[in-house]
Amino acid sequence: MSKVQEIYGAMVFDEHTMQERLPSATFKQLMKTIKDGAPLDLDVANVVAHAMKEWAIELGATHYTHWFQPLSGITSEKHDSFIDPIDDGHAIMSFSGKELIQGEPDASSFPSGGLRATFEARGYTAWDPTSFAFIKDEVLCIPTAFCSYTGEALDKKTPLLRSMRAVEEQANRVLELFGEPHQRVVTTVGAEQEYFLISEKDYEKRLDLVLCGRTLFGYSPCKGQEMEEHYFGAIRPSVNNFMKELDDELWKLGVPAKTKHNEVAPCQHELAPLFANANRAIDQNLLTMEEMRLLASHYGLVCLEHEKPFEHINGSGKHNNWSISASGKNLLDPGDDPISNLRFLVFLAGVIQAVDDYQELLRMSAASAGNDHRLGANEAPPAIISMFLGDELGRVVDALIAGEDYHSDKRAEMDLGVAELPNFLKDNSDRNRTSPFAFTGNKFEFRMPGSEQNLSDCNMILNTAMAKSLKEFADQMAGKTDDEFRAAALDYVKRTLRDHQRIIFNGDGYSDEWPIEAERRGLANNKTTADALPCFISQKSIDLFGEFNVLSEPEVRSRYEVKLEKYNKTMNIEIRTMKRLVRRDYLPAINRFAAEIAHNINEIRQACPEADLRTQEKKLQTLMFGSAEINKHPAKSPTSKSAPT
Ligand code: ADP
Ligand code: MG
Repeated sequence: MSKVQEIYGAMVFDEHTMQERLPSATFKQLMKTIKDGAPLDLDVANVVAHAMKEWAIELGATHYTHWFQPLSGITSEKHDSFIDPIDDGHAIMSFSGKELIQGEPDASSFPSGGLRATFEARGYTAWDPTSFAFIKDEVLCIPTAFCSYTGEALDKKTPLLRSMRAVEEQANRVLELFGEPHQRVVTTVGAEQEYFLISEKDYEKRLDLVLCGRTLFGYSPCKGQEMEEHYFGAIRPSVNNFMKELDDELWKLGVPAKTKHNEVAPCQHELAPLFANANRAIDQNLLTMEEMRLLASHYGLVCLEHEKPFEHINGSGKHNNWSISASGKNLLDPGDDPISNLRFLVFLAGVIQAVDDYQELLRMSAASAGNDHRLGANEAPPAIISMFLGDELGRVVDALIAGEDYHSDKRAEMDLGVAELPNFLKDNSDRNRTSPFAFTGNKFEFRMPGSEQNLSDCNMILNTAMAKSLKEFADQMAGKTDDEFRAAALDYVKRTLRDHQRIIFNGDGYSDEWPIEAERRGLANNKTTADALPCFISQKSIDLFGEFNVLSEPEVRSRYEVKLEKYNKTMNIEIRTMKRLVRRDYLPAINRFAAEIAHNINEIRQACPEADLRTQEKKLQTLMFGSAEINKHPAKSPTSKSAPT
């Protein structure tokens, strides 16, 4: 076995390990929960907890933690040791089913958007058996959902799981119409993570990078990314070593890290894993981000995950590749002749309807102070949501709307005119890098999310909106006989495509004409976070999440509050940092420089009374004017409120 095969998943209590370690009846029951969503009982949990603990201790673990994603979007953990002292002065290592299933962190110290007051501290974490437990730094980490004492979700995972259930239920109704049995349907996600690596020494010199993750002042370098040398360029040895260790650590954690390369901006890189079910993929993305930050320090580097660390060069995104899969088969795979693949067309029409109807929510999901600097620049998609289908699928959709017949061309052969080079089959469609929501062969790629964001929000929205499209279809097909079904379904697809045609745009999303055209089509253009967030608490949004039990109205409102608060706090930190830099670093430098110029003026005047000193005098005036302006403003900024502990 290769080294990679040996280490892959070594630190994960995955299906293989469960089968090895659990009595077969327990294993079967647990699989029923993981694969079919069956409820879990405490007896099963007790057996699983014991096996998990034995396994973890063998691998050096001393502690366990419920690993969860509060509304800050990052992960949280509190470590408890397995020790249980006994009377004779020794200790045994114990871990019960109850400890596995349920934890009780203090909910008041996490953002809750008003759902929890400080005095109402109780919160619960609940084991999510669909994402495997793993060992990180001698701690057994158990992925969990997090809710308040009164049962409201206080995390990113719970509504995501609820939305996956909603799609599963509605997709099964649709599949049943096609004569398929009830089956496990999941949405799949592949998260491409972009990041910067810079030297620790440079980083430490910049208070703005340390506190805000981005530079607030600066000057464009003489050489930026204009030579297009970095993208896919040879990887520097120190970065390569970092990437190798990162791969090893991720593989041990069962994260299928697959592709790594240099990105467009200097010092920018990307890691793409193989896709997984959305819940697991998001857990894995968070782990990846954590490992990146941690391992960079082994190489004297710092990993920047901010969306726009430096002005004038590209920022970092996190492309959310998304599809739906039923018993492992991809429902967005068009096959050779998409127009005759009715099931595919129904799901495709569903996505188009979902994205058009809930475009503002999708835009909202990618809104943050950091991403505001990225969206709409000539590097990331604009703030307008539109969909790119590509030539082939675009022609299929056009033909359906026009009621014409169209059959796909066979894929053409690519001949490069050099006998030694192999001929290969060309794809039926080119790529469009400017589209925020692009079909890429058998999945959609949502390119708006920023590198720092937790992808749960956008997937929760996509899944719920998709559930709504599928529900509408299934409702309308109810009562149709088998003979009537195909014609009615095709008719439905055509009508849906016609009604939502405006969201499809195959042109250049960076062009000046597009915002004008988009406005004519009635598409939303919410340029900043402040413009984008309010749609979250619109009646349309509250109704959608309520209809599928993904978020209750108080949950929607609290999440909106948390997002607003985070935006405001980020802006405040940036402003306070700017003021600190100006007063502590720039003002003394300005004064020193001014004194130096004044000294020079005097010296030159003495040596050469007729010298032209107007430029120096002007510069001195500018500096003194700037210094006076800075001194006009109060030095003290409001301090942040401290949280109770
Ligand atoms: P790109 O050319 O867009 O940079 P990458 O290879 O970097 O492509 O990333 C593509 C991502 O899409 C990978 O994470 C891949 O696993 C994921 N992907 C492929 N098929 C699916 C699917 N059916 N559902 C979700 N993600 C998918
Ligand atoms: Mg990529």
